[in-house]
Amino acid sequence: MVKVIRARKYGFCSGVRTAILKAKKFASQNKEGAILGQIVHNEWVVEEMERLGLKTVETLSEVRKPYIIFSAHGVPPSFYKEAEREKLQVVDATCKFVLDIHKESMKALSEGKHLVFIGDPNHREVIGYTHDLKKEQFHIIQNVEQAKKVRWEKYPAITIFYQTTLNADEYEDVVSFIMSKNRNTKKTDTICYATKENQNAAKELAQNPDVEIIFVIGGKKSANTRHLYEICNALKKSYLIQGKEDIKKEWLVGIKGVGLTAGASTPDKIVDDVEEYIKRITSE
Ligand code: SF4
Repeated sequence: MVKVIRARKYGFCSGVRTAILKAKKFASQNKEGAILGQIVHNEWVVEEMERLGLKTVETLSEVRKPYIIFSAHGVPPSFYKEAEREKLQVVDATCKFVLDIHKESMKALSEGKHLVFIGDPNHREVIGYTHDLKKEQFHIIQNVEQAKKVRWEKYPAITIFYQTTLNADEYEDVVSFIMSKNRNTKKTDTICYATKENQNAAKELAQNPDVEIIFVIGGKKSANTRHLYEICNALKKSYLIQGKEDIKKEWLVGIKGVGLTAGASTPDKIVDDVEEYIKRITSE
């Protein structure tokens, strides 16, 4: 049987726990509602919500129920007004760290700063920050090549925000580039504590000499899970899986030590199932 070593810190963060609790409490009150976007980026949790009667929808116009739940990733501020127009009552499960970035970015904008969001333009969190802004007020940047295409020196001042779940180290070169072009640039530390803790623990796990391969467990759309995978895979052969079903037995041939970590939206039960499965198939 292989030795399974879990990261010191992995899995659910406070934002995800709170969002799921809010949705479950709502469902237990027999109210009818839908969730705008996956409540958290984990397919297992999304299915659990559907079993509770809470369908995931992609747009407000699809909602046919009296309530709409805004997910942990947050929404553009205009969506609150749109919900009001559609006569929908909002249950807000936006994570407090995401709300902080909404507040801070609005403050920076009111001070005349140009906003830079380092992150994925298609991620709901980043869409939430930028959807209501004018094109000339912000940039979303993912790499140095994109940063090189902008004349940063033309802005009087710049404030940089990170999508909460990024691995900051990977984007240092982007930030340094922008700063080298515009000295009046401030970087705000908006990567959330849960993401940092999971990332630091993943790195430690990958540095553990007893760990030969790592399974990183999380949803297909989960950005923080993907970043954990990148951190682990840079040091040890790693596999990004949604659950035990994705594990191929041949990956474990000749392996004595397996590391496990999981994204911030992965329920503990899935991690337990993966560990139990690895132990079972390697002892057969
Ligand atoms: S990963 Fe961080 S920002 Fe995202 S929901 Fe969890 S606590 Fe909030």
